[in-house]
Amino acid sequence: MSPKVGFVSLGCPKALVDSERILSQLRAEGYAISPSYDAADLVVVNTCGFIDAAVEESLDAIGEALAENGRVIVTGCLGAKGDLVREAHPKVLAVTGPHAADEVMQAVHAHLPRPHDPYTDLVPPQGVRLTPAHYAYLKISEGCNHRCSFCIIPSLRGDLASRSIGEVMQEAENLAKAGVKEILVISQDTSAYGVDVKYRTGFWQGRPLKTRMTELVRALSRLGELGGAAEDLWVRLHYVYPYPHVDEIIPLMAEGKLLPYLDVPFQHASPRILKLMKRPASGENNLERIRAWRAICPDITIRSTFIAGFPGETEAEFRQLLDFLEEAELDRVGCFAYSPVDGAKANALPDPVPAELREERRARFMAVQEKISRRRLKRRIGKTLKVLVDAVDEQGAVARSAADAPEIDGVVHIAGGKALKPGDWATVKIERADAHDLWGRIIG
Ligand code: SF4
Repeated sequence: MSPKVGFVSLGCPKALVDSERILSQLRAEGYAISPSYDAADLVVVNTCGFIDAAVEESLDAIGEALAENGRVIVTGCLGAKGDLVREAHPKVLAVTGPHAADEVMQAVHAHLPRPHDPYTDLVPPQGVRLTPAHYAYLKISEGCNHRCSFCIIPSLRGDLASRSIGEVMQEAENLAKAGVKEILVISQDTSAYGVDVKYRTGFWQGRPLKTRMTELVRALSRLGELGGAAEDLWVRLHYVYPYPHVDEIIPLMAEGKLLPYLDVPFQHASPRILKLMKRPASGENNLERIRAWRAICPDITIRSTFIAGFPGETEAEFRQLLDFLEEAELDRVGCFAYSPVDGAKANALPDPVPAELREERRARFMAVQEKISRRRLKRRIGKTLKVLVDAVDEQGAVARSAADAPEIDGVVHIAGGKALKPGDWATVKIERADAHDLWGRIIG
């Protein structure tokens, strides 16, 4: 028999449209709509909070549903004043704001499991993934509000569109419960998460949560508290622009709640070139920011990407980039020779750098970085690192430490790790390093 949901809809036409959306979704997922309180397994009350009389009517309706049925989810305008609802009716199961059909559905799923669907139930809750079972990418938004002159992503994918925080957190929770050991947060601009929806308040596990990077990251860092498979989980952040609010998450890294790893695409160090590139956060003092991050979290790994030979780049400006590299001592760095993508505004800039010179600068850049990387990895010799195993062959195991994102960074080769399996955690004592990878012996 289908699970039954009762529905009380109060308020204006906008609220009515929200009710219709929720009812349609409930029906589409196979729930039945109950015409009475006692036949319902739970009741959704869509409230109005416009004037005092509407607030009272809504609170009364919630009270009635609680008295008659006992299991109530509150949504709508009064839900935006979550404290008021919880103060008056502490027994409600969940409270969401207006236009929150996704969050209401999550609350329904949490308290009244979806009926079996022979088509979609072939797909596990964490979805179908193309990555190995032990790590997964979590996409938090699509598109981008910036207009970097070398990039055509905004014209292909449009402006920033952040996913609802409730949906993102539910996906992360499903991944963690399915045994994923590492979640990699991706987007075009992770620091901008929620700007497009004015940091709207969403809901996760019945609690309000702002659509904002700091709040998202804090919630992700609490996934381990769910226990079970989620207890030991790495959360790694990619594409974080160095805005001031990024500083707020570094203490979480220092406390071990978030992987001490930041992928920050700096692209250049010359203020004039950054301006020509129209880079976000181009006015920030990146060296100072990196120093401050390291002061709070000395173990932080900083990865970045750069472009050499951008149109108009002089030898002096390129050297400025090399100086930045020497001073910043980044851990992981990629460099591309500028490539004129069809449709990018930068192609029309004066004084393009000849292709050969672009390549030459890229090679000089990488030679400098190789020395830095070798120096930094050498410091790890003798240290004990926790690693996550990616693959095992006759030679031993290949794993990654907190400093290594899959596919783009280095690896840790483990001698004597043949008994390990992909997805296992291991403790390794580092014995050797080159400019990219580490070699170690398993000690646990
Ligand atoms: S390079 Fe610039 S425009 Fe392109 S996606 Fe990144 S931030 Fe947006």
